[in-house]
Amino acid sequence: MAETAESLQITPATSGRIQEIFKKQHGHQYTVARTTARQRIEKLRRLHTAMIRHRSAIRQALAADFRKPAEETDISETAYVNTEIRHTIRHLARWMQPRRVGVGLSLLGSSARVIYEPKGVCLIIGTWNFPFNLNLVPLIAAVASGNCVILKPSEHAPHSAALIEKILRECFREEEVAVVQGEVEVARQLLQLPFNHIFFTGSTSIGKEVMQAAARHLASVTLELGGKTPVIVDETADLDRAASRIAWIKCLNYGQTCIAPDHVLVHESVHDALVGKLKEWLQKYYGDTPEARRQSPDLARVVHDRQFRFLLDLKANAVDLGAKVAFGGEFDPAERFIDPTILTDVPPEAKIWEHEIFGCLLPIKRYQTLDEAIEYINTGSKPLAFYIFSNRERHIKKVIRETRGGGVCVNECALQFFNPDLPFGGHNASGIGKYHGDSGFMEFSNARSIARQHSSYPTTNLFLPPYGSRLMKTLLNWLVRWL
Ligand code: NAD
Repeated sequence: MAETAESLQITPATSGRIQEIFKKQHGHQYTVARTTARQRIEKLRRLHTAMIRHRSAIRQALAADFRKPAEETDISETAYVNTEIRHTIRHLARWMQPRRVGVGLSLLGSSARVIYEPKGVCLIIGTWNFPFNLNLVPLIAAVASGNCVILKPSEHAPHSAALIEKILRECFREEEVAVVQGEVEVARQLLQLPFNHIFFTGSTSIGKEVMQAAARHLASVTLELGGKTPVIVDETADLDRAASRIAWIKCLNYGQTCIAPDHVLVHESVHDALVGKLKEWLQKYYGDTPEARRQSPDLARVVHDRQFRFLLDLKANAVDLGAKVAFGGEFDPAERFIDPTILTDVPPEAKIWEHEIFGCLLPIKRYQTLDEAIEYINTGSKPLAFYIFSNRERHIKKVIRETRGGGVCVNECALQFFNPDLPFGGHNASGIGKYHGDSGFMEFSNARSIARQHSSYPTTNLFLPPYGSRLMKTLLNWLVRWL
């Protein structure tokens, strides 16, 4: 049953504005679809320039939202968005070309090609943790594919959401790209509309709601979801390299990253050495004492109280059940500060093994054989990302072959995200569909098959009724076996 503005608790003005934008975009979609590669590139260039013009405002917005360090903002937001734009500009004309495909002997005289047409009017619902990256990278793909877009950024990063709206207003007209800000109710109102494609980034549980809503109109979906990202460190790994990367990417964005190492599975023979190295790197990066780390300008903060309490509870539950705090452990609710924390000897029944952590808590688990580590990973849902640190090729191949999920990165963390030539996305509980580079272009396009008959004596003449002639029987025997 359709919900009304009243039952969704949004103002009639917001509801009216949503309807009006959708109607405008619906009417304008064929004009946008007809644009050439050159015209679309022009729009992307405007966005590229705006990102550079607003670089310091982007830093300020993220600092205001959750004290994100400026350098991390440059690396993970502004620079990546602009990398994606430049990559798209370089390749768009080729991606837009129709693709000729062959015809078999039985279809001789015809031709076939695939054209990539825009899906139409698309909805992007984004999350707060990398607001520019996770809202604008899908937008780049949608614009490159010739779609109209309504974008709803997350309410949990309000300064970023306001700046995204400002930037997009400077670059696009509302009948092509519009931003609608608001909370869950606004997202739910948007989901009632018959969009042609819905691109959602967020938690797995909300992803299911989005897919249900999409089903009402049979809209296609891209779901970029979460989950637990395991790291394997085997007995041949360069422990110093492993620790330096795990500590960095775990604490980047204060652990609030969908591809951050969630937990580490380490061979028992190098467990203590790895924990020692992790401590060293955390101290090198952020300071020797909890107080120094609290003062560090390189650590952000937990985004909201709910997440802070969740992390506090995960740690307390693990410790109550017998886990050891090998490093960190201090929490300050006033600042939503959590000292980066390493937990060892965490019992299997602890809640931290069940939930995506999404914060600077790092539980470490020993394994004796690689098969045991692989079996443990395969009992959970398919992860969005997976890391292995090893110098034994056989181990690397085995782990990749015997596990399932989104991307894999070997002897580093997060590289798989930053290469626009690699499709990014999960599988099943960690997501549906892929984007970045040409994968994003394809995700927002409908691959339309065009078959064309050229022959005055088409081969299909041979198969017209009435059936049963000797010639047809011979031809069918050929067709079934050879053609
Ligand atoms: P969330 O699912 O709570 O919210 C995401 C967006 O959905 C927000 O814009 C929010 O307003 C909207 N929303 C919330 N409830 C809704 C509902 N009932 N119906 C429709 N829309 C609704 O997620 P979050 O807490 O903002 O983000 C954290 C999660 O996102 C983590 O699980 C993380 O792993 C995941 N994530 C995934 C990726 C990825 O690329 N796969 C990237 C970042 C974060």
